[in-house]
Amino acid sequence: MPGSAAQPQPTRLQVAVVKGPPGLLTYLAPDGELPAPGSRVRVPLGRRGAIGFVVAHGGGAPEGTALKAASAPLDPAPPIGPDMLALTRRVADYYMVPWGPVLAAAMPPMGADGPVAARTVRVARLAIPPQDALALADDLEGRAPRQAQALRDLAAALELPCAELPQGVVPRLIERGLVVVTARQAARSPLADMERNAPARAPVEHLSPPQQAALDAVAGAFGRFVPFLLHGVTGSGKTEVYLRLAQRAMEGGGQALILTPEIALASHLTMAARERFGRAVVVLHSGLSDGERRDEWERARHDPAVGLVIGTRSAVFAPLPRLRLIVVDEEHDGAYKQEESPRYHGRDVALMRAQGLDVPVLLGSATPSLESYDHAKNGRYGYLILPERVRASALPQVRLVDLREEKSVKKGGVITVPLLEALQNTLAAGEQALLFLNRRGFAPSILCRSCGHTFRCGHCAVSLTFHRASRRLQCHYCDARLPVPDACPECGNRLLETLGLGTEGLVAELAELLPDARVARMDRDTTRTKNAHLNILGDMAARRVDILVGTQMIAKGHDLPGITLVGVVCADQGIHVPDFRAAENAFSLLTQVAGRAGRAEAPGRVVLQAFDPDNAAIRHALEHDYAGFAAGELQMREALGFPPRGRVVRLLLRDRDGARLKAAEADLAALAQHLPPDVEVLGPAPPPLAMLRGELRSHMLLKGRKVGPLRQAARWLLDNAPTKPNLKRVRLDVDVDPQTML
Ligand code: ADP
Ligand code: ZN
Repeated sequence: MPGSAAQPQPTRLQVAVVKGPPGLLTYLAPDGELPAPGSRVRVPLGRRGAIGFVVAHGGGAPEGTALKAASAPLDPAPPIGPDMLALTRRVADYYMVPWGPVLAAAMPPMGADGPVAARTVRVARLAIPPQDALALADDLEGRAPRQAQALRDLAAALELPCAELPQGVVPRLIERGLVVVTARQAARSPLADMERNAPARAPVEHLSPPQQAALDAVAGAFGRFVPFLLHGVTGSGKTEVYLRLAQRAMEGGGQALILTPEIALASHLTMAARERFGRAVVVLHSGLSDGERRDEWERARHDPAVGLVIGTRSAVFAPLPRLRLIVVDEEHDGAYKQEESPRYHGRDVALMRAQGLDVPVLLGSATPSLESYDHAKNGRYGYLILPERVRASALPQVRLVDLREEKSVKKGGVITVPLLEALQNTLAAGEQALLFLNRRGFAPSILCRSCGHTFRCGHCAVSLTFHRASRRLQCHYCDARLPVPDACPECGNRLLETLGLGTEGLVAELAELLPDARVARMDRDTTRTKNAHLNILGDMAARRVDILVGTQMIAKGHDLPGITLVGVVCADQGIHVPDFRAAENAFSLLTQVAGRAGRAEAPGRVVLQAFDPDNAAIRHALEHDYAGFAAGELQMREALGFPPRGRVVRLLLRDRDGARLKAAEADLAALAQHLPPDVEVLGPAPPPLAMLRGELRSHMLLKGRKVGPLRQAARWLLDNAPTKPNLKRVRLDVDVDPQTML
């Protein structure tokens, strides 16, 4: 045909950049190549350029606009497949976040120029007992303060990456024989280390009838989108159901995805899965080195032998070309929510993914979120119940200690006589105990005895925690660390007093009350290195530890059969946090912790200390009464219009300058006047955490029956914010279905 010999126009690309403007940008395809949708490219943008994902061909800017060209694809094959393009788009749309960052979250950290070499990490460990290190640190204080500090840090953490210790100190400590250093290859076989520490898991021969019923129901839904809630008390055999379902999904070449809320649980489950399915298992979480994560991710994508991916939150985006089933373990856990941009809820994204692929999704928990429970009760989810423990005959007996009547044995301590006696009996019987205190450090605050001055973080609206081994005051929100002052900065008085107790202090109290007991501690301070939590759990399994003290880290899922006693030091903790989910969170934490007792044949006991034993969350946890708790709490949510009986979208304003924030608040309030009447507006007002990491904060809640109108309202506010000069100057984030009001 005449005229058709003209040069073909280069194709246009729609690109979502990872950092940069939120909307799609238009570029020309590079010379001689057409990057497929899902490809990663580099594009000219601003001075330094940007990385982005091609999401479509064509469209965009009007004809005649001068367009720049994108680079050739950065990866040998597009890292994002068509189904993942669709899912990330839906996530970006629902959560009102830009598409680019969601796409970036859907793949492992990747250098702009291909794979990065694996790192080695040098780890220092004490060569002497921690008590000796602390004594020595006191000696060294005057002459070598940095060595003293390093010894204290090591005494607290047991082992630390050398990079986290003061520079130049490690060689001195090695010379003196105080510290040993090992180079850890950031191992590219993430399971090797874990297997070394694996507590053996007894094989299960026959499923119980309720387990079988659950298995049949879910397997019967393969090929359709059906959400199920598996509500099973701790130790009822949920994990066994997950693994057997994974096996069913793998028969005939299908794949399964199991999500867990945290790394320790993912590792634990992976070990069990590896015993059964060997190399068919892939594990994905942020505890792996970048190289390991990339290897595992590539294996999931390309290796036909892979049938099961186990991972934390972002593994919901794992590439699984033959996915037939998604399981979300401990679905109630707040850790599924990503609290920074792009904000999304892993469980809810799992539901979106399952719906997009027409596969069943199984949400499992001993204490389901009220959202999932409400759906199950209303018939929107299949409701599967495992009412009893498989092994032990009954749930543990709970004994309540009223802290208004019982005083602690030791002044300033937290252990009462009944708890001490229970610990003594447990040790005498050669059994193990778990002590739960959801606060790390030695003491949650220190106070001047003369003027009452308390020490607060300069960047956050919270008090600083005293860490004794490292002799520091630490902010648990921004991680600021200060030396402990010699005197009160207000009045100069030297009498500073600790207030309350954290896990570090509890260990010290135990050392006085039960000097022969072997005590270990599991919290964020003692698990900073890669396999630390597995080492601690391994020590428990091997009975090298009698009492394990820990924060909520010990509450979750670990199957530790030797534990017959669980002590809850202060059940009231967290209940009075100003957040509508506070009671729900406290109830589920208490129930989970209590569930750690007596998981094998030996019967379990729980001693629960509380100041307000009549509180509904405590009372129902004491009676293992989920349904009772849920009924009361749902009534309250109904009356207040909070989830699950209403929906919430939260808008968060942030700025370093108080006056600017105030002005922005006024602008936002003025805009909100225009919202339709079915959107209830609360605020803007300062949240309980009115300052965080140096930024002042203010929030506004949009409430209503359905989320659609709330999202529309938030969209409208976002779109109109630039018309308001004061609002334009501060950070404005949207949080759809917020998990926290703090
Ligand atoms: P959950 O995940 O509900 O807390 P698990 O699946 O970890 O419970 O099961 C608790 C313990 O009971 C595990 O040691 C597991 O091997 C064992 N178990 C599970 N199902 C059975 C069964 N049908 N028969 C015997 N033991 C079982
Ligand atoms: Zn802080």
